Amino acid sequence: MLWMYCFWLLGCASPALRAPAAPLSVVMVSFDTTRADRIGTYGGPSGLTPNLDRFAEGAVVFEHAYAQTNTTGPSHASLFTSRYPTEVHGGGPVAAPGAETPLLAQVLHAYGYATAAFVSGGAMNPQGGLAPGFDVYKSASNFGSMSKTIPLALSWLEKLPASKPSFTFVHGYDAHSPTSKPAPFAGKPPTGLAAEVLRTRSERVMDGAMHATDLDIPVIDSTFLRMRSPEARAALTALEPDAPQLTEADIARIRQSYDDALGWADTWFGMLMAGLEAQHRLENTVIIVLADHGEQLGEDGLFGHCCGAEDEETHVPLIIAGPGLKPHREAGLVELIDVLPTITDLVQAVTPTGAHGRSLAPALHGEPWEGRGVAWTQATQRYTLVSGRTGTGRLSYTGVQAKSSALADLIEVARLDGPGFTSSGTVDRAALRTEMVSWLRSLGPAAAEKKLATPPELLRTMRSHGYFEANKP
Ligand SMILES: [Zn+2]
Repeated sequence: MLWMYCFWLLGCASPALRAPAAPLSVVMVSFDTTRADRIGTYGGPSGLTPNLDRFAEGAVVFEHAYAQTNTTGPSHASLFTSRYPTEVHGGGPVAAPGAETPLLAQVLHAYGYATAAFVSGGAMNPQGGLAPGFDVYKSASNFGSMSKTIPLALSWLEKLPASKPSFTFVHGYDAHSPTSKPAPFAGKPPTGLAAEVLRTRSERVMDGAMHATDLDIPVIDSTFLRMRSPEARAALTALEPDAPQLTEADIARIRQSYDDALGWADTWFGMLMAGLEAQHRLENTVIIVLADHGEQLGEDGLFGHCCGAEDEETHVPLIIAGPGLKPHREAGLVELIDVLPTITDLVQAVTPTGAHGRSLAPALHGEPWEGRGVAWTQATQRYTLVSGRTGTGRLSYTGVQAKSSALADLIEVARLDGPGFTSSGTVDRAALRTEMVSWLRSLGPAAAEKKLATPPELLRTMRSHGYFEANKP
C-alpha cells in the first residue's frame, strides 16, 4: 500500500520508509495562548501548573522554543505542515494550507494511524483547513476549554484497539481571552476596564489606555494600529487624550485571570495523563505539549496577541516525553515547525518534501544536537512582520504587506536605523538582516499569492469574538 502514498509524499525515495517494528502513538496537546514563562518548569509562578511541571520532570524540556507566528490558525498551520506562515495561509487570518502541502495528520494517516483532533473552535474550526487527514475532527466548543476536549480525546482513545497506532491532537483556548474557568480556579471576577480587556480583543489597549475601536485615525491606518508603531500610539493619544487608563489593580486582575485559566487547563492536562495511564498507553505514546503563541499581559502597555514577535507572544512551551526518550533540558533554539519532522523521525515515517523543520529526535535521545542559530517568526495579517530571534536578542522588521519575493528586496534595502527595524537584546543587526533576507528567499511561494480564500462562515465566527474589529471590510 505504501506506494500509493508516494504519489503525494514526494520524499518516498528516502530509505527511511519502512514500517516501524512497534509503532508509536502520538498525543499532541496545544495550550492555546500559553506563554512559556507562566509555566512552573519555565520559571512561572510556583504551584500554578503542577501537572505540567510533573510531566516536565520526566520529559525533554526545550527551554527556547518559538512560535512561527502569533495567531492561532496560521501558527497551527505551520505546526502541521512544517512550513513558514506565509507559505501555508493566505495572508488573512485563517489557516488554509494548499492541497500540495500535506498535513501531519495526512502523513500519519497514510502510515495506518488512526487520527483524531478535538479542538475548541475559533480559528481551529474545521473550515480553517486543518481537518484533512483526521478520521475525526471535532470542535467541542467555541473558544472553549480543554475540559471539553480532553474527555472526548480519552473517550475516543478508549475505543481504539491497543495495537492500533494513533495520533490524537487536543486543543483548548483556556488561556485565551475571554479567560473563563470554574471555581475554585476563578478568583474574584475582574470588573471595569480589566473585565473589558478580558472580554474583548485587547489590541485596543496601548500604553495602558483603552481606546475605541472605530477611531478614524489620520495619517496611519488600522494596519499600523495593529503594528503598534510609535506613530500609531502618538496618533491614538492625540485623538483620545482622555482614554480610560488601566490601573495597576486592573493589570493585576488581568494577569490573575490568565493564571487562573492556565491553572484550570493544567488540571485537565493532569486528567489526560491519568486517563492515558489508566488505558496503559503511556508506555507506547509520545506526548508533546506546546502552545501556538503567547500573550501580552501588560508588558510595554500591551495586552493580547496578534501584533508583535517579542517573547511574550512567541516564546512557547515545548515539552516532549515518550518511551526511550531521555528526560533533560535543552537550551538550544527550536521552532515549532521542528515538531513535524521530529514526529515523522520518531515513528519512522517520511517527512514531506518542502518541510523546513529539523528533527529534534537526536536531542530527545540525549545525543549531540545543536539548536538553530535563529528562530524566525512572521505575521501577515494586513501588515508584514518578520522577526529573527537569536540566543541573545531579536531583530524585527515591520512594514507594508508585500509579496514574499518583493519583501526580501525591501528588507535588504531598508535602513537599519529607519522606522522599519527594531531590535532588543544584543544582536548584530546588519548580519541578522542579511540572514533574514536569505531566509525569506529560501521560502516557497507565498500562499497569499495563490489567492486562498477565507471561508465566510469562519470570518463571521471570528468577528463575533472581536477579531478584526479595527478592520471590518
Ligand atoms: Zn492561539
